[in-house]
Amino acid sequence: KESSTVSITVVGASGDLAKKKIFPALFALYYEGCLPKHFTVFGYARSKMTDAELRTMVSKTLTCRIDKRENCDEKMDQFLERCFYHPGQYDSEENFLELDKKLKVHEGGRVANRLFYLSIPPNIFIDAVKCASTSASSANGWTRVIVEKPFGRDSESSAALTRSLKQYLDEDQIFRIDHYLGKELVENLSVLRFSNLIFEPLWSRQYIRNVQFIFAEDFGTEGRGGYFDNYGIIRDIMQNHLLQILALFAMETPVSLDAEDIRNEKVKVLRSMRPLRLDDVVTGQYKSHTRGGVKYPAYTDDKTVPNDSLTPTFAAAALFIDNARWDGVPFLMKAGKALHDRRAEIRVQFRHVPGNLYNKNFGTDLDLATNELVIRVQPDEAIYLKINNKVPGLGMRLDRSNLNLLYAARYSKEIPDAYERLLLDAIEGERRLFIRSDELDAAWSLFTPVLKQLEEKKIVPEYYPYGSRGPVGSHYLAARYNVRWGDAASDQ
Ligand code: NAP
Repeated sequence: KESSTVSITVVGASGDLAKKKIFPALFALYYEGCLPKHFTVFGYARSKMTDAELRTMVSKTLTCRIDKRENCDEKMDQFLERCFYHPGQYDSEENFLELDKKLKVHEGGRVANRLFYLSIPPNIFIDAVKCASTSASSANGWTRVIVEKPFGRDSESSAALTRSLKQYLDEDQIFRIDHYLGKELVENLSVLRFSNLIFEPLWSRQYIRNVQFIFAEDFGTEGRGGYFDNYGIIRDIMQNHLLQILALFAMETPVSLDAEDIRNEKVKVLRSMRPLRLDDVVTGQYKSHTRGGVKYPAYTDDKTVPNDSLTPTFAAAALFIDNARWDGVPFLMKAGKALHDRRAEIRVQFRHVPGNLYNKNFGTDLDLATNELVIRVQPDEAIYLKINNKVPGLGMRLDRSNLNLLYAARYSKEIPDAYERLLLDAIEGERRLFIRSDELDAAWSLFTPVLKQLEEKKIVPEYYPYGSRGPVGSHYLAARYNVRWGDAASDQ
């Protein structure tokens, strides 16, 4: 609106996330004309920097999309002119008051809306929230705070964090980011389900044999394991990103697309789930491996990781939803670092065709050829459905083919980064893609017991070579539920 202004303060602006994701996303929004007419971006951190130094730092990571190179430099300069820096401590009300004064100058008496992005380590979240809310919140507009994971490391610490945040903020001021929810194909999941007649009727135990949520990275911690070692892959990927996708996948139809209606359904499905059992988890840790003369390091070779660390860099888990729709259907998750591949995908394996005519007449080679729907979240976004098909020609030979929607082929547009969507939503007050505190509680209660047992019993992870497919234990776990992990390599 003409009469209002938005000030975005990136707290921890000297850090990695700010440089790599937040400033580039803000610029992309500016380029697209999505930011309000009056806006200012402030960087805040302890490092000493001038406005000019911040601009130089930020300018190095700004890019224009391939299809939008026009006026790129000009736009960057305009954007950078709106970026400022204020050095300060995270626990100093005085420093935040100074920031408040500067923000007021830029706001020029308009209705002042303020967004604080906490891009700082979790141990200083509360200090920063306290100072921002008491000394730099808006007097006449809204004040919102974006928080990044980790939201605690178990049910208790997460609840304590929520309690502390709520001393200074109302629930509707807190925007807990899970950047997977901002990914294009995760957003599309509901569209796929609820606006195509052919999917929703099949979306239940009646037709779906199992669902798999797979996250793989082909690199390790690379000297940044200090943070990771305190959390491990279950907390870092499963409890948040994969579980959020699972909830969207499995929830009942929401009453509307309203944030509260969607989040209500997500909480319901999370609360219908059985807490994960130790028996249903396999953990792994990557070990050193030499391939083609190159030696790839073990997790514990990372200087920031203790030599005797048992932290899992890989985990596979079988989860179950005890409701009428999903009773007995295994929901398998697999997440790992230093694997042979980099991808995030959802695989839906459908049941066998009952009394398959072709199976009977043409031997057993089609035994395993059940339909499979794959939603590839990254890289190379795609949705494809594996079907049985007649190979053209005389005679009757069948093969597996894909009905394939490859985004790069279908849409020429570059896909916006998840952070762009999430920042825009936070500015617009759209809460659909942010995690509500009851959702967070439900998510932690599924994983906390098993995380405690893994730590208390000092369960030794299964070691797997850097760059491999991960521990074989994950295959045994899947086999126990009659599941075979889908394999991207055999999809073509
Ligand atoms: P970072 O670079 O380690 O820290 C950001 C800034 O916080 C630093 O530049 C530093 O600024 C300040 N800081 C660091 N350690 C501090 C300490 N012990 N006490 C006080 N201030 C400290 O973190 P990041 O990688 O940008 O990530 C920011 C947040 O996002 C973290 O909570 C992280 O868990 C989360 N996150 C990051 C990523 C990612 O891709 N990097 C992904 C998901 C979530 P000054 O020294 O100038 O004050």
